Amino acid sequence: MSTSNKSTPEQEAALIEAAYQHLLMGYLNSNHRKKIEIIEKAYHFARNAHEGIRRRSGEPYIMHPIAVATIVSREMGLGSTSICAALLHDVVEDTEYTIEDIEVQFGPKIARIVEGLTKISGGIFGSNASAQAENFRKLLLTMSDDIRVVLIKMADRLHNMRTLDSMPPQKQFKIAGETLYIYAPLAHRLGLFAVKTELEDLSFKYEHPEAHAAIAEQIITSEAKRNEIFDRFAAPIRERLDKMGLTYEFRARVKSCYSIWKKMQAKRIPFEEVYDLYAARIVFECPNEADEKRICWNIYSEITDLYRLHPDRVRDWISTPKANGYRALHITVMGPDGNWIEVQIRSRHMDDVAERGFAAHWKYKIGEGDEENELAAWLQTIEDILKNPEPNAIDFLDTIKLNLFASEIVVFTPKGELITLPKDASVLDLAFTLHSQLGTHCIAGKVNHKLVPLSHKLNSGDQVEVLTSYSQEPKAEWEKFLVTAKGKTRLRAALRHNRRVIIDKGEKRLQSWLVANGIEQTSDVLTRIISNEGVHNKEELYYMIGNDEIAVSDQLLRKVKPQSEGIINKWLRNPFGGGKPKADAPEAKAGDPIDTKQVFVLKTENGVSNYEIASCCRPIPGDDVVGYIDQNNRVIVHKLECPTAMRLKSSYGSRLVQTRWENRSERFQANMHVEGIDRRGILQEIIYIISTNMSIDMRTLDIQADGGVFKCDLEVLIQDANVVTNLCKRLKKVKGVNMATRIS
Ligand code: MN
Repeated sequence: MSTSNKSTPEQEAALIEAAYQHLLMGYLNSNHRKKIEIIEKAYHFARNAHEGIRRRSGEPYIMHPIAVATIVSREMGLGSTSICAALLHDVVEDTEYTIEDIEVQFGPKIARIVEGLTKISGGIFGSNASAQAENFRKLLLTMSDDIRVVLIKMADRLHNMRTLDSMPPQKQFKIAGETLYIYAPLAHRLGLFAVKTELEDLSFKYEHPEAHAAIAEQIITSEAKRNEIFDRFAAPIRERLDKMGLTYEFRARVKSCYSIWKKMQAKRIPFEEVYDLYAARIVFECPNEADEKRICWNIYSEITDLYRLHPDRVRDWISTPKANGYRALHITVMGPDGNWIEVQIRSRHMDDVAERGFAAHWKYKIGEGDEENELAAWLQTIEDILKNPEPNAIDFLDTIKLNLFASEIVVFTPKGELITLPKDASVLDLAFTLHSQLGTHCIAGKVNHKLVPLSHKLNSGDQVEVLTSYSQEPKAEWEKFLVTAKGKTRLRAALRHNRRVIIDKGEKRLQSWLVANGIEQTSDVLTRIISNEGVHNKEELYYMIGNDEIAVSDQLLRKVKPQSEGIINKWLRNPFGGGKPKADAPEAKAGDPIDTKQVFVLKTENGVSNYEIASCCRPIPGDDVVGYIDQNNRVIVHKLECPTAMRLKSSYGSRLVQTRWENRSERFQANMHVEGIDRRGILQEIIYIISTNMSIDMRTLDIQADGGVFKCDLEVLIQDANVVTNLCKRLKKVKGVNMATRIS
């Protein structure tokens, strides 16, 4: 039964214009600098963006942003930046425009606020809204790098609650519940008392329509009697206040339906027995802030002369304001009908702050009303509250909870799940928090769609995606950028597990090598190796072998049985299957068993190679290589173009030998570098090509993304150089990649 459905386009345009003018008038009457131009621009931009769209109620959509901006301006006292952001708050979410468009038109400040608002709306609340509620409150508070996001979100919710009528009942129920659970407590914490009360009452109205109606009805029917008692109570007090020469307002304030209902529920009493249905409030004008406290206590003194004071119910929130900034003096005295009456004593300034939160402070800064500075000051106050809980305050628990937030951040998963982490947590912390496996295989992260290394520190409100690779392995040095206990524990466990795997590998390698060389594995043999290698125990030996720190080679053999004649004979027959002792024959020259005229076959058997890969150029099969026979009669394989190889060639030409790889099932390490323009999904695409399409194992991946450009170094395990060449070709075809190359 909306009237706007029936109105003509002209009437509708007039309606919109009137709402907008109402907003402007409110702004012009405030103490803010008059930045009309940008507000005009935001209004036209939003109006154009939402053109033709209607709210469920049938009214043009633009009425909603205008209403939110009006709340932001008139009820919260915020300035032009907030008004613009409020006007634009649904543009990115509901229309084709992007944050970038907003930034181009309105600059980064407004764009960031709109972005924050877009991020926290929608998608977050699935079916488990209540489970997420505490996190969400924290998120809103910790996102206080621009508190305006929170305030505008509040205004948005308030307007949606005021117009909840047009929603279907089940939706009303959900929105009302969420409001009561999330927004009202948050408004309370921020000191937005009027907003909090209204949100609570509106929620109550939709959740318990009958109870709400009944209480509202009873408030009206009991009014006459209440007024009569109050007038009797107030008359002598007024006399005293007048004598003090004060300008003041003295009224009875009936509690909200919601708080009356709560009291009835908690005490299991009917409406008639709620004795403190209302509180009396004295608000006095006080141009000089320094006099506030004194006047409050003077009033206290006058009232307690007249009525009996309840000694346990004096609340001095002037000397120690509430955590949310509330200041007032509350006393409870015996009224004329024998019931206790609460009297709240406040200056005008205190009253404004109580109703509108810190936003009210702006009203008192005339002229130099720079919103930025004022916001910074407000933010500081909130931060102070976060850091210094007041142990004696009534809302002790509230403050403690707030204090916890200061050291926490809240981030989103791509599914919109909210995760709380300690401050300074990294992408890797998040990965380990979500799942052990995610942590151990984490290769990088995407924060707000930008590629970041796994050490990247997260901020509240970040949307974080964890990128993994099956071949990634946990590393001890990761502990440096873990701050969560969970992350550290899980990393250590993974490393322990990995160590176990390496130990097993090492043990097997040593065993099969001993078998291959006809050596019986006795404890004597092991002890000898252990003492010779200078390791502490079996485990360490196996670990070092498994980790390629100790080569299972001829040198090791010498240590096992240095005197063994039979073995030496065996070496002579097959020098590279076994090896030759170093100290015994350090200079193998004339009798050198390697024939440099023949092609030397590079072999690996049972994990033991008859050659070494030069660490300077790391050749792999498929590369043009040359073997160099070193002092120990080992063949070291270099790339042909390797500078070291060239030097060797010129000085030790006779020690060079042509080589050929025999066993192609072995895999070799190659290093690659990929570079390009960062875009959403590019890394996954690259990883998909490497791991899934080409079935190549990645050992490490190191990514740096900066200013929309990513650079990525990776280590892959491949059979020969052709694979890398193909891989580079494939990667270069990925949109955005402009370089993919093998590096040494
Ligand atoms: Mn909205």
